Amino acid sequence: MNSVDRMSNVAPPPTATVVVVGAGYAGLSTALALHDEGVDVLVLEGSDRVGGRVLSERVDGDLVVDHGGQWVGPTQTRLLAAAERFDCTTFPTYNTGDHLELWSDGVTRPFHGAGPDGAPGVDAYVAAAEVIDEWAATIDLNDPTAHPRLVEWDSETVQSYLDRTVSDEDARLRLALAVQGVWTVEPRDISLFHLMFYVASAGGFDQLMETEGCAQERRFTGGAQAVALAIAEHLGDRVVLETPVWHVETLDDGRVRVDTERGQVLADRVVVATSPGAAVRIRFSPPLPQARNRWMERTPMGDVAKIHTVYDTPFWRADGYSGEATAYGDHSVGVVFDNSPDDGSVGVLVSFVYADRQHRWSALAPEQRRADVLATLTALFGERAGNPLQYLEKTWPDDPWARGGYAANPAPGVWTEHGATGWRTACGPVHWAGTETSSVWNGYIDGAIGSGHRAAAEVTAALRS
Ligand SMILES: Cc1cc2nc3c(=O)[nH]c(=O)nc-3n(C[C@H](O)[C@H](O)[C@H](O)COP(=O)(O)OP(=O)(O)OC[C@H]3O[C@@H](n4cnc5c(N)ncnc54)[C@H](O)[C@@H]3O)c2cc1C
Repeated sequence: MNSVDRMSNVAPPPTATVVVVGAGYAGLSTALALHDEGVDVLVLEGSDRVGGRVLSERVDGDLVVDHGGQWVGPTQTRLLAAAERFDCTTFPTYNTGDHLELWSDGVTRPFHGAGPDGAPGVDAYVAAAEVIDEWAATIDLNDPTAHPRLVEWDSETVQSYLDRTVSDEDARLRLALAVQGVWTVEPRDISLFHLMFYVASAGGFDQLMETEGCAQERRFTGGAQAVALAIAEHLGDRVVLETPVWHVETLDDGRVRVDTERGQVLADRVVVATSPGAAVRIRFSPPLPQARNRWMERTPMGDVAKIHTVYDTPFWRADGYSGEATAYGDHSVGVVFDNSPDDGSVGVLVSFVYADRQHRWSALAPEQRRADVLATLTALFGERAGNPLQYLEKTWPDDPWARGGYAANPAPGVWTEHGATGWRTACGPVHWAGTETSSVWNGYIDGAIGSGHRAAAEVTAALRS
């Protein structure tokens, strides 16, 4: 029995100074920061594992695949620091050779950077991204709702903005795939202000899109869940699994009673470290302020599935391809990356299916889903891609705890009307963490960790006062 198994099937203790709800990276980082300060902290996790939206599976021998969050970039310093502390090593994402673009007319072109030179819409796409970068840089990440153009930008969707300002239809297709790829929603679903905030939070549009020097630069040798597992191991019996929290009550004496499916815990402070959608399913007494409720209710998860196909070798490398590809038109798969292990001992491609494409693809029968993904891979990389040794799917909207991914996006108008206090302001002894509450790398593992550090600092200050 490993230490994580030992966290299951034990009732939580009746008291703790601080209870953290959720053992994703946000909750574990909150708890670790408090534990480092000597605070008596207890993490209650509903599912039977730690890591939340990060899930690594050992498939065969040494092969580990990441079904959820996987990459780390050089400016994601909180995640890199946690990895270093717990001796979790990383390696560069394979990025040698040509990327491939399968355009909507069926033509495949090699490319580097934003898109194939001279291909339809590339120049107008780059120009639109530059405007977004320029505007995003004007947002104060710690006080986003103070922005003078908040109401204007938050009143329209990215779709209406693109329709209005980008006349080149091909550039709009490229920008739509970028939105699907980064936010896992359609441009019609997301507020222009939130898109700007998110770009600013990552340090620029390229940071979100690119590999070298950017968000997709490196992967974890033992899978991205390894750091979470190591933190949980360090916290030992202070992490209790299979203990869903369903009610949080602030008592007359200012303490908090946390009701779980396996008993109650009395605490001085609670940190809810889940997505907004998971937090809204918890009952709070007295009721939370309206702004917080509306923020949580109107900040839904995106939709994404990740599919791994395993081959005896990364054969595309010998053909001069990086394994990275984008597909436009009727394909369910939007983006593909080489997800082979560092030593290239086997070949692994990871295919992403998002937003509307994911809705249509998920409605297919399993064999149709597989055939659909393999048809796109064959169109990109040839017949060998259509005959993998293994085919593995993870559809995040079906995950009972995450119910989607990568992250949640406030609908248009939500930042304007509820952002100032609904985003992450503590409600009495109830504090909020989770990547969606982060100023930096919002939506990413690093953002989750940063949110945990902020929540822990809030709690320590409150406990000292
Ligand atoms: C397919 C996919 C790909 C991604 N790729 C990347 C990437 O490459 N790099 C990157 O940095 N990020 C990536 N992300 C995003 C990243 O995984 C998330 O931002 C991050 O893991 C969120 O962490 P969190 O702790 O805020 O939330 P979560 O991971 O959602 O953790 C919340 C935890 O709370 C638990 N919980 C919920 N409700 C309750 C309850 N009532 N009681 C008790 N426990 C509860 C959940 O089970 C969960 O364990 C990806 C995500 C997905 C899904």
